[in-house]
Amino acid sequence: MNGLMMHKQMLISSLIIHADRHHGDTEIVSRRVEGDLHRYTFRDCHRRARQLANALANLDVKPSDRVGTLAWNGYRHMELYYGVSGRGAVMHTINPRLHEDQVVYIADHAEDKYIFFDLTFLPLVQAIAARCTTVKAFVAMTDRAHMPEDCGIANLLCYEDLLEDSSPDYEWPSLDEDSASTLCYTSGTTGNPKGVLYSHRSTLLHTFAAALPDALNCSSRDTILPVVPMFHVNAWGIPYIACMVGAKLVFPGPALDGKSLYELFEAEQVTLSAGVPTVWQGLLGYVEQNGLAFSNMKRTVIGGAACSPSMLRTFQEDHGVQVLHAWGMTELSPLGTVGTLKSRHSTMSAIDRHAVQCKQGRAVFGVDMKIVDQDGAELPWNGQTSGELLVRGPWVVRNYFRSEDGNPLRIDGGAHGWFPTGDVATIDADGFMQITDRSKDVIKSGGEWIGSIELENIAMAHPAVSQAACIGAKHAKWDERPLLIVVRKPEADLTGEQMRMFYEGKVAKWWIPDDVVFVDAVPLGATGKILKNRLREQFGDHLLGGAH
Ligand code: ADP
Repeated sequence: MNGLMMHKQMLISSLIIHADRHHGDTEIVSRRVEGDLHRYTFRDCHRRARQLANALANLDVKPSDRVGTLAWNGYRHMELYYGVSGRGAVMHTINPRLHEDQVVYIADHAEDKYIFFDLTFLPLVQAIAARCTTVKAFVAMTDRAHMPEDCGIANLLCYEDLLEDSSPDYEWPSLDEDSASTLCYTSGTTGNPKGVLYSHRSTLLHTFAAALPDALNCSSRDTILPVVPMFHVNAWGIPYIACMVGAKLVFPGPALDGKSLYELFEAEQVTLSAGVPTVWQGLLGYVEQNGLAFSNMKRTVIGGAACSPSMLRTFQEDHGVQVLHAWGMTELSPLGTVGTLKSRHSTMSAIDRHAVQCKQGRAVFGVDMKIVDQDGAELPWNGQTSGELLVRGPWVVRNYFRSEDGNPLRIDGGAHGWFPTGDVATIDADGFMQITDRSKDVIKSGGEWIGSIELENIAMAHPAVSQAACIGAKHAKWDERPLLIVVRKPEADLTGEQMRMFYEGKVAKWWIPDDVVFVDAVPLGATGKILKNRLREQFGDHLLGGAH
């Protein structure tokens, strides 16, 4: 017997309809590429998203057609999120920090029909326009007054003109909730970028789960500033969550330096933010150098790469900002786990509590996870035994978009597939997962694994260290040994030997890096993560006495 409840399809358009109807006056504030601060409401956003949906019909964008964007976090990008997906086309956010060849590869692979771009990316569009064979036109996300002239792009349209010519009378179509809504490519640090194609249903379920109190804990009392870009796994779902809960949104546009961010946090009284660790370093540095404080910031989500204990301590103890350490992947929409404490942790000492919070956290409802050994046998949740992390759930990828490599899933018992994350982790008795490494970054010394993240976390706790990365460097006797690469803080004094001494008593002797290399900067990928493969290319032979 079936239940007798309505079978309303879960659609992205329902989020903006809800935001308009129940939180219509709530603001969306955006730093524009044009330089000024733009302010409007969810109601305005909904009206313009409907205008955009009509404009897309005039451009002959059909259901399932891909519409690409090269854009910062801002209100026009938000309108595209809803206008494109809402009318049944596929919103495809492209990371503009990628190399232009990769942008061309991605636009081509996705078969984007149009690409909308912020003016900042005009030089990129000029460089790629002729090579993007499926793209009918590029749309500059600006008004007529700011349109570039004689820029050599054959089919160039103006966003505000498109909207001006289109009516806001538009009825969002009733789509199948399983239809594709959004497309994101992995950043390609492990080969060619792969497309992850989300559905309306997977997006809505992810939004419900991500907003929960033990996840991002979002409500209509929040003002959320996503520093994480809308081209990095949909800003971790924040543009959807804000509509679901009616939170005020603040978009930083292109101004991501510590000073600009801090001023926006304060002016708009931001309560919650989210971003990768490298972004927070810039902000914390600015705040500390100028003796400033956050007046209303309550929580920040740190993910995409491990949050070091020193960063966690600085946020929580120096600034009273709670850190939500989260783990996820493009393939998980992205949220998998969040390090929110359980009530029994409240009686722990601050040091013990911090150690728990530095783990990547507990699975949010909907994501099931396990760790397995090399033969696929499940390993115990004892906080010690590490193995490959596998996940499954309704917002986990089943297959990549137009993939030639076959299904990535690991079939278990024939009934359910598990997605192999490529991460190596432990899980403790409370269900807190801790990443020790990505499988490709694991250091294998004499057949034993050394966790690079733990070695980096220790280095980051040294007062003279600004950034640290640990790689497996080739070694004549042990195959690989840890090599630490360090960026010192400005004017800080630190020798390799002092750095190595700092590890004494903190890890087993054989874990201590064999050598320390000081550099001016570490290479960062398109989403702000340290590119360890680049470091391995550069310093992999260092311990053999090779050139570097
Ligand atoms: P890419 O694989 O191109 O870096 P993603 O943004 O999808 O793109 O990265 C997902 C990976 O980032 C995870 O598999 C994991 O290795 C790493 N990661 C994400 N969050 C964390 C975290 N909190 N701690 C450590 N690693 C993390």
